[in-house]
Amino acid sequence: MVSFTMTINGEPTSAENTFPVINPATGEIFAHAPECSRAQLNAAMEAAQVAFVSWKKDVDARRQVLRDCAQVIRNHSDELADLTTREQGKPYQNALEEIGWMLRNIEDFAGLEIPFDVLQDDEDARIELHRKPYGVVAAIVPWNFPLMFAGWKFGQALLMGNTMVFKPSPYTPLATLRVGELLREVLPPGVINIVSGGNDLGAAMTAHPIPRKVTFTGSVATGRKVAQSAAADLKNVTLELGGNDPAIVLPDVNPQEVAEGLFWGAFMNTGQACIAIKRLYVHEDIYPQIVDAVAAQARKVRMGNGLDPDSQLGPLNNRMQFERVIDLVEDAKRAGARMVTGGQARAGNGYFFEPTIVTEISDGTRLVDEEQFGPALPIIPYRHIEDALERANDTHFGLGGSIWTNDIDQGYELAGQLECGTAWINNHMALSPYLQPLAGAKWSGVGHELGTKGLETYSCLQVIRRGKH
Ligand code: NAD
Repeated sequence: MVSFTMTINGEPTSAENTFPVINPATGEIFAHAPECSRAQLNAAMEAAQVAFVSWKKDVDARRQVLRDCAQVIRNHSDELADLTTREQGKPYQNALEEIGWMLRNIEDFAGLEIPFDVLQDDEDARIELHRKPYGVVAAIVPWNFPLMFAGWKFGQALLMGNTMVFKPSPYTPLATLRVGELLREVLPPGVINIVSGGNDLGAAMTAHPIPRKVTFTGSVATGRKVAQSAAADLKNVTLELGGNDPAIVLPDVNPQEVAEGLFWGAFMNTGQACIAIKRLYVHEDIYPQIVDAVAAQARKVRMGNGLDPDSQLGPLNNRMQFERVIDLVEDAKRAGARMVTGGQARAGNGYFFEPTIVTEISDGTRLVDEEQFGPALPIIPYRHIEDALERANDTHFGLGGSIWTNDIDQGYELAGQLECGTAWINNHMALSPYLQPLAGAKWSGVGHELGTKGLETYSCLQVIRRGKH
């Protein structure tokens, strides 16, 4: 088996203990990753603290290093995509696409201006507003888009002048560890330290006295723990958490025209996307046609091992998630829901769950109320738009939402009534990370990432006031 090393202070670092990484398409262990010890975590934090002293000084040098990082990663895209497919499960083409997003994010962030404002400049005073890096940022990410999140967090934190200790999910550590190995060529030691381990390693990072900021992407339940832990010494925290995004389809659409967008809005990455459509509300006049058209997409999609070039959807990433989707679908069946397609796990190895379209279901059922994070979409009819909006908003989540209509003015007006951080019209999930901040409302997040607004969250403000007399 190939072995992977952590990167601490620019050095390859193996560990006394390792943990297994499973290929979700087969259910078999295919590699082991190092389990970072507490002494190694301390070393990573200290290295990042030392590196910060010179890294923070020169933004133009940082821009160039970020571009160099992107180039090194680009040169190894095939290898990284192969690893991503094996550990995450997604089709190889999608893994390559994810690496493309990672590169684009790093390069786009390298070009962003660091905000600077002059608030007043007159005979009385000149008041300037500067953005200063925090120092060491602890970054923790989930398993659904491991490299894309790495790209987001590297780009923003590093451009701003911070250094990092970064932890991938224990389900998908390998491609990120490999990125750490590759970046040793171009990054000064200690600027990015990549450590791998379980949830307790994440907890040790958020409790550690060195970082002044934690950036976390993951579930609501873990987000709460991160916030509590970081509160002890008042670290700044950004939390990008779960969602239960509604999409509302108005009666004026052509079902054949919107079906593909709705399907992929829900099933991209096998439904394992924070901003996927997780509940579909459809006007009763076109409900049967939309169900048929979306179900036709579900029947024709090819699910399989991501290394098979024909696969369009891979398995669920891990056993826990696989069992959770089974549990939610079985609960829906007991509540009387109808499985128009799928409704069960696929026989054989791996964590494959058939693309599932569910009707005769409503709010109050777990599959509608909770975040399923898998390939099972409930489609719910409505008569009055006010009722659809009320149900769409009746949730603790508030990540994204969408309106599908040919009446763009009405779509715009209704999008504004969705209680969520991003509202789309005739689309779901489209992002322009260097422009568009991703901000969860309600339980879906605290703070925001991406765009200049997100870049700013990796900085603290400093006012410099010069009196003129
Ligand atoms: P998770 O919360 O279980 O784990 C995320 C990361 O946190 C992992 O690296 C894990 O090891 C670490 N962790 C676990 N316990 C910890 C603790 N006590 N302290 C610190 N770190 C800890 O989430 P997951 O199952 O890996 O990912 C799926 C969830 O992530 C879904 O809810 C999804 O919606 C959410 N998500 C949100 C966004 C967003 O941008 N809002 C993006 C992707 C995924």
